[in-house]
Amino acid sequence: MTQTLLDINGLVKRFGGLTALKSVDMRVGEGELLGLIGPNGSGKTTLLNIVSGYYKADAGSIAYQGSGILGAAPHQLARMGIGRSFQVTKIFQRLTVLENMLVAGLSDGKTKRDEARDRAEGLLQELKLARLRDERASSLSGGQGKLLEFARIMMLSPKIVLLDEPFGGVHPELKRFMHEQIRKWNAAGTTIILISHDMGSIFDLCGRVVTLSYGDIICDGTPEETRNDPAVLDAYLGDHHGAA
Ligand code: ADP
Ligand code: MG
Repeated sequence: MTQTLLDINGLVKRFGGLTALKSVDMRVGEGELLGLIGPNGSGKTTLLNIVSGYYKADAGSIAYQGSGILGAAPHQLARMGIGRSFQVTKIFQRLTVLENMLVAGLSDGKTKRDEARDRAEGLLQELKLARLRDERASSLSGGQGKLLEFARIMMLSPKIVLLDEPFGGVHPELKRFMHEQIRKWNAAGTTIILISHDMGSIFDLCGRVVTLSYGDIICDGTPEETRNDPAVLDAYLGDHHGAA
């Protein structure tokens, strides 16, 4: 593996009596495009929520670029280069497309307005949203909203991007376009963790796949190894099979 960007050790998360993450160890190398899969409720979103500062861990540690980050707030982590998307899109419906981009771009408190605007225009172009820049986000289609969220994540030039089921309810053509963007970001050096139930996308895009089941990592390997792993097959063919 290349240089470690994210080093997760013994991570535990409990919700009341439920242990959502049992003791997760995971290293993510700089420049990786890592798939994170597992049945519904296996702890995928919880893991991303802790890495991005939305949940507190009960035990364990996370080092990012060599420094401990547990306890840091989401906006601090975003400034440090950790970008993420949400399972349910979190764009500001009453703001325009461009305003959504500027809110993200200015949130680090140091980017100048002109600079943010230039960057926003460039990203909107890239994601084919330029002609919608002055529309309210509420008027966008579901797919356009997903693209806006993609564009917005890139405003702070993240070093690592955490994508939580970006392809849910997305039609095939848009999905292909999103694949292209993900590949492009990754080729440009952005590390990516991708959660998806869409095995086609995961196996197509990711060089390595980590599988969670009931808060434990049950497999960590290449797409080929994952596809043929009895424990993975078992987890997906069990009670929790399917899911969105
Ligand atoms: P996944 O993303 O793999 O579907 P989650 O990480 O969302 O799984 O959930 C893992 C487990 O933790 C589930 O049993 C879920 O119900 C529980 N959980 C997640 N978030 C919360 C929360 N905020 N409060 C209580 N339980 C939660
Ligand atoms: Mg989830």
